[in-house]
Amino acid sequence: SESVEAIRVQALSKSFNGTPAVKDVNFSLHRGETLALLGANGAGKTTTISMLLGLLLPTSGSITVLGGDMLRHRYRLLQRMNFSSPYVDLPRRLSVRQNLMFFARLYGCPDPKARLEELAHDLDLGPLWRKPTGKLSSGQKTRVSLAKALINAPEILLLDEPTASLDPDTADWLRGYLQDYQRRSGTAILLASHNMSEVERLAHQVRIMRAGEIVETGTPRELLDRHGRGNLEQVFLDIA
Ligand code: ATP
Repeated sequence: SESVEAIRVQALSKSFNGTPAVKDVNFSLHRGETLALLGANGAGKTTTISMLLGLLLPTSGSITVLGGDMLRHRYRLLQRMNFSSPYVDLPRRLSVRQNLMFFARLYGCPDPKARLEELAHDLDLGPLWRKPTGKLSSGQKTRVSLAKALINAPEILLLDEPTASLDPDTADWLRGYLQDYQRRSGTAILLASHNMSEVERLAHQVRIMRAGEIVETGTPRELLDRHGRGNLEQVFLDIA
């Protein structure tokens, strides 16, 4: 139903100088659900995510976010979303606390101090509080960037390769944290990942893109059954 739809993308297309990068893409992401957007390099994932974040204008099609038209109300709707990627650095000389306070104010958090304390507790950021983010290890940076991504308690979270730069233990911890956070908050998560075991663990729905189009749709289970494969990595290699 309309009330639980976090994102609806309809007939979304984007061309660069007449060359299509995204072609007639359709999907819905619901509250409390994780949808994995998969594809080989160049398949169109980043272009799709950039349109969802209001950074690129579609050539045609529509994006509905939390019931509102993203193209008409993007600033208001972006307040209710957030984004995390290990490829984006936070200001390196600012301490962890300063960085998070900046984003808390940017998003107009009603009680920034309380929100910071809550996230510091959840993500064990206390010991890092006064450190410049430029001095953190990659695992520590990931925790801080996750805190930044959750600061506004987003109803929609876009995650681009969230565990790409992490050691296996930290990656495993992060996946558990995301699952737990989603169960508590009902946040809708759009996940771009090349790690198929991560997708099997986190995703309720999977879409595989190839040359700008969605070529496979279903739950992880449905994809395994349809292709008679034991794991998603094999399905992915068959299709993408
Ligand atoms: P990756 O996993 O490498 O990020 P991707 O699935 O995100 O790949 P996109 O970055 O969305 O793929 O690229 C889709 C297609 O659009 C590619 O052919 C790419 O060359 C093209 N493309 C992306 N951005 C631009 C741009 N700004 N100008 C021209 N072509 C672009």
